[in-house]
Amino acid sequence: MIVKSAEFICSNTQISKLPPPVKPEYAFIGRSNVGKSSLINMLTGKKGLAKTSQTPGKTQLINHFLINDNWYIVDLPGYGYARISKSKKEDWNKFIRTYLDKRESLQCVMVLIDSRLEPQKIDLEFCNWLGEKGLPFALVFTKADKQSSIKTDQNIAKFKKALLATFDEVPSYFVTSAELHTGRDEVLGFIAEINQN
Ligand code: GDP
Repeated sequence: MIVKSAEFICSNTQISKLPPPVKPEYAFIGRSNVGKSSLINMLTGKKGLAKTSQTPGKTQLINHFLINDNWYIVDLPGYGYARISKSKKEDWNKFIRTYLDKRESLQCVMVLIDSRLEPQKIDLEFCNWLGEKGLPFALVFTKADKQSSIKTDQNIAKFKKALLATFDEVPSYFVTSAELHTGRDEVLGFIAEINQN
């Protein structure tokens, strides 16, 4: 897919104020600092579109970016940031889970996983929750340039194995690096294919 245009549309703290659910959307989510903003900028080819390295956990916003005038990248707040209060975490949970569970135009949840790490409990729990809700998701392993491809492959194999404890099959997954633009065509191709159906 060629990204001809990528435009920031709105930031929301309330589900009721989201754009009308008439265009397909793809939600990007992961632990704070996983590389979500960098990935969104890399996919769209717009450096400053999603802000990188904001204070994690500070603002709980759902950001909509309109791509090629016909589909949305939805940037969801990161999870798993240790230094936010319990009540803030609960607010996050309610807000995001309501969005994910109720959004009619949501096509797929793109779950970002740091490829440098062994499977993290919080990522697995989140995937399991998506599974329980019957929400389609794909895995996007980030920061693959930071270690050898052997190490990346080992971590992916462990993640897949951990998922197979609860899932019958592993979802689609992608290896990416925002630094090297790895995985861009694959992620955009995956989205293009869903949009066509
Ligand atoms: P977010 O909090 O998930 O939006 O993460 P950011 O996109 O702000 O990235 C967090 C940090 O990781 C920043 O310092 C980025 O420059 C760095 N980073 C993100 N993606 C990559 C990548 O693919 N390769 C490398 N080497 N660093 C990355």
